[in-house]
Amino acid sequence: MTKSVLIVGAGLGGLATALRLAKKGYKVEIIEKNSNAGGRLNQLKKDGFTFDTGPSFFSMSYEFTQFAKDCNITLPFKYFALDPLYTVNFRGNPKTYFLYKDIHKLSEQFTDVEPDFEKKMIRYLNKSKRLFHDSVDVAIKQNYDSLFDYFIKLTSVNPVHMPVLFRNFWQQVSKYFKSEDAVQILTLVAFFLGRTPFDTSAVYTLLSYTEFMHDGYFNVEGGMYKIIEGLLSELEKEMVSITYNTEIKDFIADGKNLNALVDQNNKKWNADIIVVNSDAAVFRGRVFKRAEFSEKKLDKKSWTMGPLTIYLGLKCKLPMVHHHNYYLGDNFKEYARKVFKNPDSLQKPYYYVNVLSKHNPDCAPKDSESLFIVCPVPDLRYKPDWSDRDAIVDSIIEDFSMRIGKDIKSEIVSRTVYTPEEWQNQYNLHRGSGLGLSHDMLQIGAFRPRNYDEVFKNVFYVGASTIPGTGLPIVMISSKLAAERVEKYSSGTSVEKKGI
Ligand SMILES: Cc1cc2nc3c(=O)[nH]c(=O)nc-3n(C[C@H](O)[C@H](O)[C@H](O)COP(=O)(O)OP(=O)(O)OC[C@H]3O[C@@H](n4cnc5c(N)ncnc54)[C@H](O)[C@@H]3O)c2cc1C
Repeated sequence: MTKSVLIVGAGLGGLATALRLAKKGYKVEIIEKNSNAGGRLNQLKKDGFTFDTGPSFFSMSYEFTQFAKDCNITLPFKYFALDPLYTVNFRGNPKTYFLYKDIHKLSEQFTDVEPDFEKKMIRYLNKSKRLFHDSVDVAIKQNYDSLFDYFIKLTSVNPVHMPVLFRNFWQQVSKYFKSEDAVQILTLVAFFLGRTPFDTSAVYTLLSYTEFMHDGYFNVEGGMYKIIEGLLSELEKEMVSITYNTEIKDFIADGKNLNALVDQNNKKWNADIIVVNSDAAVFRGRVFKRAEFSEKKLDKKSWTMGPLTIYLGLKCKLPMVHHHNYYLGDNFKEYARKVFKNPDSLQKPYYYVNVLSKHNPDCAPKDSESLFIVCPVPDLRYKPDWSDRDAIVDSIIEDFSMRIGKDIKSEIVSRTVYTPEEWQNQYNLHRGSGLGLSHDMLQIGAFRPRNYDEVFKNVFYVGASTIPGTGLPIVMISSKLAAERVEKYSSGTSVEKKGI
């Protein structure tokens, strides 16, 4: 008999799992709190401009092509490689670094600050490469049935990598490079994980290999939201229905079986199997009311940055600005120490600027530019009051104008700002943390909220706060792991629910 699956949340994780399961013959239905799909991978259309509101590029493109192969479809969007990957500028320094994938071309920019950069970079990337190939399949591409199972699997990783477990990202990069410019630039990727190089394990230096050697970074033709539009059209072909403006608030259970979920209008939603795409920690606390996931307990966990995101439509072109750009200050260590807990860091903000209309001219009217700025800020635990949002945004616009040598204030014809308050309220993100639970050693693998429920046999999880973690390709892996759980459960070979 055909089994029914109800998916809570139409984020990337929910949609990808829905397609995998529909292709396997399940009858799938999705419910979503908001009025459109995509979750954090979303877009804003306003005043004639289109903005990607969250992700602006992705790595590990092969996870998307593998997904298409698994589902027996042609990937429903087109992507292209970024080269340079991005640019970096330090406050007070007129030089702009271009992060080319061609290591020789990259090295030429460091001749005056880091002797033998090319040789050092190749040594560093070769170490990252070994780390990546020895650990990725074991650490992020498998389900674990218990803490014991997790540790057994980890023992298959080559012990030569043990020392990186005892270093942070900054320390590992500093073993290869001496100049502040090189170390700061090569550790920037830790911010992509939502933390700083000082509190991110050196294990993640494997990301440098994915950036420069293995695959690179990619943009989607027509904007990142084409990923969601493509998935929606594939789901339509499979007759998967989506009901919007429906938020799950409560549940009805019978022992170890979840019978129904209850929405804000007290409507009950039933299915044989439930997959939760809402944040795996928040949902357990708010909807299932589990004591170990109470607000108080969640506050004690380590969360990723709260994003302050700014969407600007300009009635001019910015030929001097590239597609992806980082504007850093001159106090990296002090900034990194403060950025997630101390709002003082906003006095000299570091930020990222994406000019979407560079590669996607349809996203802005003629002779105009569509700009997206992300500034990492403390989450709502550390900065609950955002009444100063306009002053902070003005200071970023002023700093950016100074750095590019053009005052853009009078060119702005569209302005929208999301603080961590908006991110929290739109997507049920804990205290507005943009990327979900951080990737500390005690919050990954079997220590992360599991992708199967502790109590209900028929409930599974997918997305950034369950395994393996955050970011678009990693969420695609999460959809594969969640679908495997559902398949096992349906075939009656589900794991014994061992406590971890
Ligand atoms: C500012 C920003 C920039 C980013 N940049 C990048 C980038 O460049 N590259 C990259 O790879 N990643 C990036 N990310 C991370 C990436 O966006 C996420 O890892 C990914 O989109 C998470 O997908 P998800 O499906 O797990 O969750 P979500 O996208 O959060 O989807 C969950 C869905 O569940 C819905 N929901 C929640 N609670 C309920 C409920 N109770 N009932 C019904 N529905 C509910 C939500 O509305 C949402 O639609 C960025 C994130 C942010 C915030």
